[in-house]
Amino acid sequence: MINIVLFGKPGAGKGTQAEFLKEKYNLTHLSTGDIFRYNIKNDTALGQLAKTYMDKGDLVPDEVTIKMLESEVDKNPHSAGFLFDGFPRTLAQAAALDKFLESKGQKITATVALEADDNILVARLLERGKTSGRPDDQDEEKIRNRYQEYNEKTAPLMHYYEAQNKFHAVNGIGSIEEVTQRLSAVIDKL
Ligand code: ADP
Repeated sequence: MINIVLFGKPGAGKGTQAEFLKEKYNLTHLSTGDIFRYNIKNDTALGQLAKTYMDKGDLVPDEVTIKMLESEVDKNPHSAGFLFDGFPRTLAQAAALDKFLESKGQKITATVALEADDNILVARLLERGKTSGRPDDQDEEKIRNRYQEYNEKTAPLMHYYEAQNKFHAVNGIGSIEEVTQRLSAVIDKL
């Protein structure tokens, strides 16, 4: 079983790459952003709560996110492995994930980061906002806030995974295929 954390700033291309990687490696793709958006669309209690944070570009509180992620993993007991996209985003989430997987005799195999320059990413998100309908993609101030959340809360995770010798970074700039190949080269060696 391989469990991969796909890591990167907003707009780095995690969702796009996850679509290819999940097929190639037969992984269950869990995107916390997608799960929240699904709940918002269906107007569930979880969706209503998450929306108040997401619309501002703030992170949803850890206890809510962790519980949701664990229940999604539990919905896939026969999975050959998971591709975590957008989770963990805080040290508390990373520690909770390790503990949760350990309780199942599992672990994170590796974290693979997509690296790209902030200015390129902000431009990508504003472009995506024209068609995605995502309120958090349409306003530069909200986008900047997401980067601030990333720098404060998510960036420290690199050290967390480096300390476990599980951190790998690839250049996220290039064609979709080129980036998929770079990611695959890392995963194939695991
Ligand atoms: P992006 O990486 O492009 O910002 P996502 O779809 O991964 O987009 O996340 C969108 C929003 O969903 C985040 O800004 C945050 O509000 C919420 N969210 C997603 N994953 C998490 C998480 N692990 N912890 C807290 N909030 C999250």
